[in-house]
Amino acid sequence: MKYVIALDAGTTSVRAFVYDFLQKKFVYRAQQEVGQSFPHPGWVEQDADEIYFKSAYVLNDCLRFAGEGEVAGIGLTNQRETTVLWDRLTGEPVCPAISWQCRRTSDWCASLDAPTKELVRARTGLVPDAYFSASKICWDLEHVPAACRLLADGRLCAGTVDSYLLFKFTEGKSFVTDVTNASRTMLFNIHTLSWDDELLARFSIPRSILPEVRDSDARLGEISARGRVLPIAGLAGDQQAALVGQGCLHTGEGKITYGTGMFLLFSTGGRAVASSSGLLTTVGYRIGGKTAYALEGSAFHAGSGVQWLRDGLGIIPDAAATQQLAESVPDSGGAVFVPAFTGLGAPHWNAQARALFAGISRGTTRAHLVRAVLESIAYEARELVDCIRGDGVPVSCVRCDGGASANDFLMQFQADVLDVPVDRPQERESTALGAAMLCALSLGLADERSLIEYRGVGQVFRPDPRRRDAREEGYRAYLNAVRRALL
Ligand code: ADP
Repeated sequence: MKYVIALDAGTTSVRAFVYDFLQKKFVYRAQQEVGQSFPHPGWVEQDADEIYFKSAYVLNDCLRFAGEGEVAGIGLTNQRETTVLWDRLTGEPVCPAISWQCRRTSDWCASLDAPTKELVRARTGLVPDAYFSASKICWDLEHVPAACRLLADGRLCAGTVDSYLLFKFTEGKSFVTDVTNASRTMLFNIHTLSWDDELLARFSIPRSILPEVRDSDARLGEISARGRVLPIAGLAGDQQAALVGQGCLHTGEGKITYGTGMFLLFSTGGRAVASSSGLLTTVGYRIGGKTAYALEGSAFHAGSGVQWLRDGLGIIPDAAATQQLAESVPDSGGAVFVPAFTGLGAPHWNAQARALFAGISRGTTRAHLVRAVLESIAYEARELVDCIRGDGVPVSCVRCDGGASANDFLMQFQADVLDVPVDRPQERESTALGAAMLCALSLGLADERSLIEYRGVGQVFRPDPRRRDAREEGYRAYLNAVRRALL
């Protein structure tokens, strides 16, 4: 059998990929968009049933391509934190899934008392926030009468998208999740790797409604597909799957995803490092019975600045044009951009900050502005990487993915600003690759050491020591502009 299938249940689409072990690459992919609804300002919901049906559709598409006899198993990755409540008897969702993006429980989180916030931080590695699943489960238990009835009847299940999909695919036989998804619920003790009874009691969430927690390389169940039974094996939340797909298995190795926003995840090995600057401590993966932790940081806006240049200002025809424009000038001519369109995340955590351009002079051109926007992405990453370094983790290698990592100027600038090599893989679908690799590890088709080979060597951007002083000066100017954005 030469294939494994990776299913990536994302926020806006579900996608399935056929990975060929002989050719070491994806040879087929299928995609279906999934909807989101916005019933009130700040609310975001999804239909879990739609996610399931469309997942089954793309999976079948891949199985048709591969031929069932050639597929060894299916690995799964998914959008994290989004919360589903369903009936254990029928498998039907009880109410709309509350998306990770939904802010309806912000006040609930803000109203938690100081000792509870501290407990969350110590046990889960998270900063209490509406983002995570706990407050979403509490909201449903408070506002959805059908959920309370099912709870009273002992029929309620609550979990993240992975656990719902696995429940459906196995016709209710598997009610499971994995350590990485569990670590985003605000209910999971990342040190003991079990649901935290004290947090469950504080939030009045019964343990019985939560799934069993498995390792990232666990066998999770079986699916009957087109007359055959296939193992579902290997599971991780999307950012953690990308960490595995990028082969970041040693302390200090990490990945930066340059999409609409920016997501950093750096492995800290067997040590759960508590951040002193507001980064999250999370489970990176658990493979072969060994837990690796990670520090996670994110910026709300990265590629969205490039979108704004195109759609808001109309000064570039497309995102790719930014590379040539940025390279057409030796520097930004003193222009500095801070992409705080909706506030600033770690380490500032300021929702009121707004984006700004500073240092504009009569000589500033379109090329300077474009360059300043790209530079700001690299500076944002530098701030987060400095936080990781400040927490005692030596950052040795950065692997990149996401739409904006296609930009050679940005990647070179990033290497210079971080003073570490930035490594762009051949296969930039790191998340799906991670799910395929976890499946391969689970089924014994690959071992941990060989993971990096499957990723494939792409291009390595090495820091240019001649540019160091100019970059440091640019970074200081950026930090000054950030201070102004915070006023
Ligand atoms: P998401 O998964 O968040 O939708 P993607 O990983 O698809 O994002 O990346 C899309 C983002 O990358 C967009 O914001 C776009 O402006 C930016 N982008 C795409 N190509 C380039 C490029 N060549 N240079 C700079 N930014 C780019």
